[in-house]
Amino acid sequence: MKPYLKRAWAEVSLPALRKNIETIKKLCSGGTQIMAVVKADGYGHGEEEICRCLAVDCGIRYFAVSNLDEAVSVRKFCPESEILILGYTPPEYAHQIAEYNIIQGIVSTEYAKALVNSGTEKIRCHVKIDTGMGRIGLKHDTPQECADEIKQLCNMEGLSVEGIYTHFSVADSDSPENVAYTDRQEKFILDTYDELCRQGIRLPHVHFMNSAACCYRNNPRSTLARAGIIMYGLHPDISLDIPAELTPVMELKAVISHVKTVQKGDCISYGRTFTADREMKIATVTIGYADGYSRLLSSKGEILVHGKRCRIVGRVCMDQLMIDVTDAEAAAGDIVTLIGREGDDIITADELASIYGTIGYEVVCGISKRVPRIYIE
Ligand SMILES: *Cc1c(COP(=O)(O)O)cnc(C)c1O
Repeated sequence: MKPYLKRAWAEVSLPALRKNIETIKKLCSGGTQIMAVVKADGYGHGEEEICRCLAVDCGIRYFAVSNLDEAVSVRKFCPESEILILGYTPPEYAHQIAEYNIIQGIVSTEYAKALVNSGTEKIRCHVKIDTGMGRIGLKHDTPQECADEIKQLCNMEGLSVEGIYTHFSVADSDSPENVAYTDRQEKFILDTYDELCRQGIRLPHVHFMNSAACCYRNNPRSTLARAGIIMYGLHPDISLDIPAELTPVMELKAVISHVKTVQKGDCISYGRTFTADREMKIATVTIGYADGYSRLLSSKGEILVHGKRCRIVGRVCMDQLMIDVTDAEAAAGDIVTLIGREGDDIITADELASIYGTIGYEVVCGISKRVPRIYIE
């Protein structure tokens, strides 16, 4: 392991990642291959090591990213893989898409035309269909109309259409209305695919499964499962149990820099939002919101200190925060766990997210560049 400053760091467990991949394979049907979603620096876990582990150790062949910069970067680590850009690439970069053998998501016919007009070589693509997410993609009232537009794209010079895909917006919900909504999204993309087949166009790929779909509505007809958050061991939605054992891949640690006893009436941190109501032992921890540990956790978050939960007191600062260690063992130099397991207790990114009204995705993506990622083999 490379030396790193023991101040605030994230431990990324590659065995946990490998185990999660095995679990996802079991959740999906044999004919569905995993497309590892590694956008946003592998959801904050570190693109290079995550990609290498997935490609080399887990044999993952398909990767998905959000943009061209990420695609080019993944290409370096995974020279043999298929890389799909889920989002928009400005057409003037078409030559790079071709040069790096990237597959581009096509959001509209207009966009496809712009791409091939500025491109030199053939552009490989999957066509995105908007079946209800309302974000990007071809939008039609019927699968027949949709298939007609895709057919035109298939005939376009300079474009190689290899698949179609769509994205679910509520596959992580078990309410009957939301399940019916996702059913309609799924039916639309499959009917579109089948209509294309009837017209003699058999595309290698049709995919619509995200993490939530892997967990709750596996469908063998999806040739790829675009698994993101579950690979990293977190929940698509914390309120729903996952029908499999996943292990969080990232732990977040820091160090106690200072321990002191305060008296009744003493104030802690900016804004004097916390005043001791008795004699207390307070520890200062070397992490703050500039590390991605949200200020919204002020006076709310808990941290594991020698396996014991200790409450944050007062506001989280940019680089430091204070915790109540009155009932804990704590000394300067001790390592504490902000996300992760100590003994029988675990604090997950999902738990932190629920405290301040967001999702685990945002917590792990938000751990800032200042925090070194340490890879555990
Ligand atoms: C981010 C993303 C995914 C992965 O979503 P998870 O919920 O993390 O599995 C899949 N497909 C598209 C289009 C995405 O943007």
